[in-house]
Amino acid sequence: MSTPTIGVLALQGDVREHLTALAEADALARPVRRPEELDEVDGLVIPGGESTTMSKLAVVFGMLEPLRAFVRAGKPVYGTCAGMIMVADKLLDAREDQETFGGVDMIVRRNAFGRQNESFEAAIDVAGIPGGPVEGVFIRAPWVESVGGDVEVLATYDGHTVAVRQGNVLATSFHPELTGDHRVHALFVEMVRAAAG
Ligand code: GLN
Repeated sequence: MSTPTIGVLALQGDVREHLTALAEADALARPVRRPEELDEVDGLVIPGGESTTMSKLAVVFGMLEPLRAFVRAGKPVYGTCAGMIMVADKLLDAREDQETFGGVDMIVRRNAFGRQNESFEAAIDVAGIPGGPVEGVFIRAPWVESVGGDVEVLATYDGHTVAVRQGNVLATSFHPELTGDHRVHALFVEMVRAAAG
């Protein structure tokens, strides 16, 4: 396939920025709120935002099980920041009742890099992304505390894992959708193309 259709989970978070980044990385991008809409996309981005709210809204909108099934079926998913939290199998510093979609055998610590006013930017070398480091924007960002054997660590910052891939699931602690540099989205679009055949 040449132009894959990629959804952006639009329950909460910076949906519009991802739709723009995906379109600029040569995908057909559309918001996804309902299970029927999930059936129509080849891959899905889970945006940055607030993962506790996203978790609650996923339950309210009947999206929790469909999203878990989407990941289990091996459909490509890319989570940024809160989205990284949502694809983690286990969380630290989260409410007991916070649900995730899972997909990556990792433990993610919420708000690990500190509060909103400790947000920062840093140059991050990401394995598989040519052309030098990407600008990592970290906003109340999580880090990956530990990973299972099938998880590939793609980037670290200050000794902490900030980008991972397991099979068709990609996750970054930072927000490439905010920088105008679409190389991480282009990598995901390639993953979706490869998975769709
Ligand atoms: N700290 C937020 C959370 O736990 C994530 C922040 C973000 O997505 N920028 O959901």
